[in-house]
Parts: sequence; structure tokens; C-alpha cells
Amino acid sequence: MTDPRRAIPRTDTVVNDPRLRSATNRLGSRAVKAVVTEILSQVRAGTVPIDETVQRVLDRLPARASTLTPVINATGVVLHTNLGRACLSAAAVDAVVAASGYVDVEFDLAEGVRASRGRGALDALAIAVPAAESVVVVNNGAAALLLAVTTLAAGREIVISRGEMVEIGDHFRLPDLMTSAGARLREVGTTNRTVLADYAEAIGPDTGCVVKIHPSNFRIEGFTGSVSTAELATLGVDVIADVGSGLLEAEPLLPDEPDVSSALISGAAVVTCSGDKLLGGPQAGLVFGRADVVELMRRHPMARALRCDKLTLAALEATLRGPEPPASRALHVKSDQLRRRAEVVAAGLGATAVPSEGAVGGGGGPGVTLPGWAVALPAELAAVLRVGDPAVVGRIAGGRLLLDLRCVPADQDDALIGAVQQARSRIGLPCT
Ligand SMILES: *Cc1c(COP(=O)(O)O)cnc(C)c1O
Repeated sequence: MTDPRRAIPRTDTVVNDPRLRSATNRLGSRAVKAVVTEILSQVRAGTVPIDETVQRVLDRLPARASTLTPVINATGVVLHTNLGRACLSAAAVDAVVAASGYVDVEFDLAEGVRASRGRGALDALAIAVPAAESVVVVNNGAAALLLAVTTLAAGREIVISRGEMVEIGDHFRLPDLMTSAGARLREVGTTNRTVLADYAEAIGPDTGCVVKIHPSNFRIEGFTGSVSTAELATLGVDVIADVGSGLLEAEPLLPDEPDVSSALISGAAVVTCSGDKLLGGPQAGLVFGRADVVELMRRHPMARALRCDKLTLAALEATLRGPEPPASRALHVKSDQLRRRAEVVAAGLGATAVPSEGAVGGGGGPGVTLPGWAVALPAELAAVLRVGDPAVVGRIAGGRLLLDLRCVPADQDDALIGAVQQARSRIGLPCT
């Protein structure tokens, strides 16, 4: 009788099996070897038959080298920070892929000399916002505000309304960000009401700037009042307007959402915003404004620590020059169209289509509801759908799981149906 363990293949033999070649190309030999080692130990323990070794390795290997799992966003929330905010357009994805190798981000190919970094993205921003004399791009909206207040108010005072002391999420608070720049906050007014005279009385020789922050993730109602950028601009000090969402122009669907162009025309010295909210691009921070102030920011030592990478610059430019990005499409899609799609998906699943209220999300339009349509399913499917690949994240309402189609690209409706059928079979629900 020969020892059955003699037949167990060596790790390298399994790793080099032709059936694992494409996985090795995709995931790297180290990742494949780790799984092979794990499965072979199960073979040795007798829990896996030898002739199933390769198949078990294939089953166990991850789908991709990154652990980030693509999600079908069926929450109806367009800018879901936990789900990565805006999705890139196909044009922006192409630009990212093209920029992922060597690229002329800081090089003039015609002359063979150094060129200004990200000039294509800066040109596209200048075209998109003619009211801006100049623009600089940094890592995110928080970095844009940090650079602006550092440049204008480090060691001095920032005058700001008590109604604009915003926490942007995960315990990060803009007042703390501003004081970390070495500026002192001079809070004026109250939580619900601030008037121009409050600012005027606080302004003095030590004032670095006035900051106006858009409360982009909450809304206060009732006896309220705030001072417009145009009024603040009459005070004789530089005004930084943090509009947050990155709308470059006024959006009729979101009448209360401030936009970059209007804030500049109203007299803000600089306007800051994010790239991955309503602008619909990659994570980035944009600072538009007067040429002298923006130049000081560009030259500030901190600018180098806050700068964004070539992939961001590529995606940002393509978002601005290319076709309408997904965030804008999801915002503007007609309810009728969502209804038709929801009915088709529901029919495919033997479920029902129901009206559903979507939202812009933490990135803008607080309190605005976006009327749309969803497919209603039993709530117990939610957890199973979340751990599928692609993962599907919906919304629980009234004891049911709603899959809102607003942020689901129409070409993923079939993938959504497939994911639901798979989830049903995993927990033994009939697939009707
Ligand atoms: C989102 C937001 C920020 C932070 O921007 P990030 O891109 O998340 O860093 C700052 N201010 C306002 C008003 C915002 O809405």
C-alpha cells in the first residue's frame, strides 16, 4: 500500500497549472500561491479530494486584486459617500486608463521640456467657469478649503457664522479644519440667524477673511436667516465661499444649491468645492477665484502636500470636456423612464414596482427628494444582496427592500435581476 500523500502535488506544480495562468496574470503569483498552499493543506488533511485541487483554488481566488467590490447602487441616493460618491463617465474611465502609464502630465512633448502640471484640466475648468480668473486643483474639498484659509488667514481671524459650523462626516468638522490652519475663528450670529451687521462688527485689523460655508448635508427650517455672498463681498475683506457640491452653474432642479459661477459673480475672492459631488468627477478639490489669491495658493508650500495625482487630473478633464457624467444623469432622469424600467425589472422578478423617493445625498441638495421608482422585495434579501458580486445595496422602507433604479445604469438592469435571483436561491426563496 503506497502512502496516499505521495500523490499530493507540490505547491509549485499546482501554481504552474495552465488552468491557473489567467488568474496568475490577473492577481499575481503571490496571491495564487497563498491560496494553493491553503487548499493543499486541506488536501493533506483529507477534507479536499486531490483531483479537485485546482478547481477549489479557482473557486477560492478573489475576483480581482483589490478587495474593493463593485456595487450596484440601488439606494436612490446619487452621491453616497460610503459608496464612493460620483461614478466616473466612460470618457473619464478611458482617460484614467490612458493616464495610468507614462503620460505628459508635466511635460511638453512638442518642445521636450517641462510643462505646467495638469494644464489640460485647468484649461477645461477655465472654459467651464469663465467668471474665474484662475483655478487650482487639489486632493479634495477639505484640502481646497484648508489651502484657501491657510493662504488668507493663517495667524489671523476668520469671521464665520455660527450657522455654518458644519461636520462633513465621520467626526471631521470644518471649524477644526480651519483652526488647524493656524487661524482663529471669530464666530458671529446664532445657529439659526446671522445678519450682515454681525459680520461688520467682528471685522477688524486682524481679520484674514470671511468664510461662508454651504450647509450641504443638513437644513434648518423656521426662523432662519443668513447673509448672501453678494452682501458679504461689500464688507471690504476677502470672502471664501465653500459651495461644497461643485455645481459650476445654477441647477434649476436644486434652487437652494449654490454654484461656483454665481458665487464668483457675487464677489467671492475664492470659491472652493469638491470634484466628486454634483460635478460628477473624481475626488478632487477645486479653488476658483481672483488671480492674485489663487497664485498665492498655488505657490504656498502646503499646495505640494495637497496636490492630486495624474489619474485625478485625467478624469477631471474628461468629465468636464466629455459627455454628461452619471451623477448628472441620475439627477435628471425622468420619473416615467424609471417607472418603465422598474416595471420591466419587477416583471422579470415576479415583484412589484413602487414609487420611491431618491435623494442627492450628503454631497448637496439637503432635504430635496427626487421622485423615482423602485422594485419592492422582501427585506430579508438585503443582507444577501450586499455580499454578492456585484454587491447590491438597496434601501429598507416600510419593512420591504426597495431597489431604486435612479442610480442604476440602464445597462445593468439585467445584472440586477440576475443578482436578485441568485440571492433568492441562496436563501431558498422561490425564483418566480
Ligand atoms: C463635502 C464638503 C466639504 C468636504 O469636501 P471633500 O471633497 O469631502 O473633502 C467641504 N465643505 C462642504 C460645504 C462640503 O459640502
